[in-house]
Amino acid sequence: MRSDGESDPLGEAASVGVRVAAVDVAGLCDESLRARLVEIGRARSGLEAMYADTLGEIARRDSAAVAEQVAKEKLSMSGRAARADVKTAVALSELDVTRSDLAAGRIPSAHARLIARAAGEAPIDEGFLVARARREGYDQFRRTVARHVADCSGDDGESLLERQRRSRAGRVFTRRDDGMVVVNLELDPLTGARVNSVIAATERSMFRDEDPGARPTPTQRTADAITKLLLEPGRRRPAGTTLLVVADYDMVNHRLRDARLADGTPVPIGEIAKAAVDMKVLPVIFDDANADLCMGRTRRTATELQRAALALRDQGCIGCGVAPERCFAHHITEWQHGGPTDYANLVTVCNDCHKVKIHEQGFTVEGAGRGRFGLRAPDKRSNGSSSTACRAPPG
Ligand SMILES: [Zn+2]
Repeated sequence: MRSDGESDPLGEAASVGVRVAAVDVAGLCDESLRARLVEIGRARSGLEAMYADTLGEIARRDSAAVAEQVAKEKLSMSGRAARADVKTAVALSELDVTRSDLAAGRIPSAHARLIARAAGEAPIDEGFLVARARREGYDQFRRTVARHVADCSGDDGESLLERQRRSRAGRVFTRRDDGMVVVNLELDPLTGARVNSVIAATERSMFRDEDPGARPTPTQRTADAITKLLLEPGRRRPAGTTLLVVADYDMVNHRLRDARLADGTPVPIGEIAKAAVDMKVLPVIFDDANADLCMGRTRRTATELQRAALALRDQGCIGCGVAPERCFAHHITEWQHGGPTDYANLVTVCNDCHKVKIHEQGFTVEGAGRGRFGLRAPDKRSNGSSSTACRAPPG
C-alpha cells in the first residue's frame, strides 16, 4: 500500500490525528489489521509533527531548557528523552520539507529524526534526503543519511569521525533498584566496529564449546564474552577477528572511494590503513560470478570470503536483523539434501532464528527482491485454523 498522496499537507495534518477510529481489532481480518497499522503509522507521524511544533514553539518563546522541563513535567518523561525530543523539535523547525512530510504522514518520525540529526552534523540537501525517506526502510535510510553526511562534510567524513571520537563515553555503575552492575560504552563507528568484532569472535568461539542442550541466550553470551575478555586478558585473540571495510573503485581516477563498514557506516579512507595495523584486511573484488564464492560440494562451511560477501548482501540475520558478526551462513537447499556451499545458496542467519524460526517453527527462506532474502512465516491457513473473515474497515 502506498501512502504518497499529493493532497494539501497541512489540511491532511490537521485531520490525520482524528482519522483513526477505535475498533475492536479482534474482529478484523489480517488484511484490515495491516491496513489499520499503516493508517495508525500515518496518524502517528502527524501527531509527532504537532508534538515537535509545540515543543519547538516553547523553546522559541523561552529556551530549550524550559521546553525540556515542561516536557518532563507534563508528559512524565525522563530528562534524557525530553532533551532528545527538544533537540529534534528545534532542528525540525528549520526543516520545512521534512516537517510537512512528517505532518502529512509521508515519512515516519524515525526518518525525520535522522534528518534532524544529520542537519546538525553537516550542510545537508534536505530535499534529497526527504525524497529518499519516502521510499526507503529504516535501515537503508540510516545508511543513506550516513553516506550523505560524510559526502556533505567535504573531508570524507574525517571531521565527523573526529567529533564522534570526542563524544566517546563509558559508564560503570551499580543499578540502584536491583544491584546489577551496568557497563555501558559509546564509541565512534570505527573503534566500535573493531571492539565489536573482537567480542563477536569470542562469542563464536564460545558457541562452539557450548552444550547444545543448554545454551545461554544471545545477551548472556555477549556478557560472558566481554567478561572473559576483561578477566582473562592473556588469552589469544580468537580466530576470525576481521574488520570488514568496503570501498568502491573509481575507474576514472584510479582510486578507492566511499569506504564503509559492512553495515554501510561511512569511514574515511585515510583511517583504514590505521585500523589495518592490528586487524586482518580482506582485499577482494566481489562479483556474483566470482569462482571464489562457489565452493560447490567441496566444503560444507562457508569460507571467510563468502561470509564477508554474505555480510554485505544480507546486512545481518535475514530473520531478525542481528549484526552479521553474530551470524553464520545457512544453506537454503540444505547440505544434506545436496545443496552446494555457493554464494547463491547461502544466507546469513543468527543462531536463534536458525534454531527457533527455521527448524522449530518452519519458516522458509525466500527472495525479497534485488538479490536480497528474508524469512517467510509458515502459512497458518494450512494448519486448519480458520482466519477471521474480512469485512470492510470502519470509517
Ligand atoms: Zn536472527
